[in-house]
Amino acid sequence: MKRLIFFLIAFLLIGQAAYCQTKPAAAGKPYVILISFDGFRWDYLNRDITPNLEQIRTDGVSASSLRPAFPSKTFPNHISIITGMYTENHGIISNYFMNYDKNDWYGMSDTTKIRNGKWYLGEAFWETAERQGIKTASYFWPGSELNLDYRRPTYRELYDHERPYEKRVEGVIEWLKLPYNERPHFITLYFHDTDSYGHDFGTNSPEINESITRLDNIAGLLIKSLSEIGMKDSVNVIFVSDHGMTNISKEESINIENMLGQFKCRFMDDGPFIQIDPPADKLLEVYDILKKNESHYKVYLKKDIPDYYHYNKNPFIYYIVAIADIGWSLITNRKSDWLNKAKGNHGYDNNNLDMHGIFIADGPSFKDGYKTGTLWNVDIYPLLCKIFDIYPRSNIDGSLERIGFILKDNQ
Ligand SMILES: [Zn+2]
Repeated sequence: MKRLIFFLIAFLLIGQAAYCQTKPAAAGKPYVILISFDGFRWDYLNRDITPNLEQIRTDGVSASSLRPAFPSKTFPNHISIITGMYTENHGIISNYFMNYDKNDWYGMSDTTKIRNGKWYLGEAFWETAERQGIKTASYFWPGSELNLDYRRPTYRELYDHERPYEKRVEGVIEWLKLPYNERPHFITLYFHDTDSYGHDFGTNSPEINESITRLDNIAGLLIKSLSEIGMKDSVNVIFVSDHGMTNISKEESINIENMLGQFKCRFMDDGPFIQIDPPADKLLEVYDILKKNESHYKVYLKKDIPDYYHYNKNPFIYYIVAIADIGWSLITNRKSDWLNKAKGNHGYDNNNLDMHGIFIADGPSFKDGYKTGTLWNVDIYPLLCKIFDIYPRSNIDGSLERIGFILKDNQ
């Protein structure tokens, strides 16, 4: 018996060694840098102020827009991009939300919460890739800081809002200069600029145009830096945004809490959409009031939310969801002062073109000078798996069928 075990172990070890040897020396492994410009609306590319991005668009692939998942918010969509799943399935249903028992909450501004893996039900691309022999890195991306080794990239920077943009590009270039065996092949990079300026100044302001130009310069710096280390022609760059932006005004707002004053409801989210949990025996009464006053918003019982939103399977979504018409805000008394300052917002119906972002890509895997219509952000994960020739998870919502045609035919 002992001898048998010895042979078995020897066989396994030899098999393992042979497996390692037969894996390609990784010479052919592609490189991808996935860059997110937060809140960069699809049409910001058409203002004649983005020469660097225009060059990438001319040389590579560009989509007329990138459709986010619902809600068109930052954390839900960065996670949709990186997992290929709708928000109801990957679990990050909003930037802030409560668990079912209402005794714990997730929030994007709390590092302890965002590093807790229990909220994230999907598998991020870096986890899929690392398991299949691809080293990955993240210079910021929601969900990249989980406190479990196997669920995060090999290299990562913890989010620092103030980190100068040039430093972020430098950091990525340093990773690419590592010895071949230590070097990441998939890297994410994130910039918040257009989101902040869109919220504060609106989509037609000089300030947002300066912000767009700032990010275009960063795109130029990245391409130039890749050239300087001789990697421009071997690296695929994919520029995306998590959502767009639309102008809002204080006058176009509806106070939902006042409307439901006689009931003790619990509210989650506000602005472009709001979630409402009424006392258990008052569900239909509360719904009826919201339905009777339905003007400049649509209200749904959770079970009746139209399928195209993909927003009712998750247990943490409240029993009633109201979605404002584009540009309108649904508010409560608790937070209604933010509206006095904000000029732009997002989170609305993800099919509304104002909520769409950008998708432009260039590099050895992509077709040259190819223009396509709207792409869906849940399809980026299967696209990445195809580029790296690795197996995607089988439970994703994305589909290679809807996006694979932007790759060169030999991919
Ligand atoms: Zn965002």
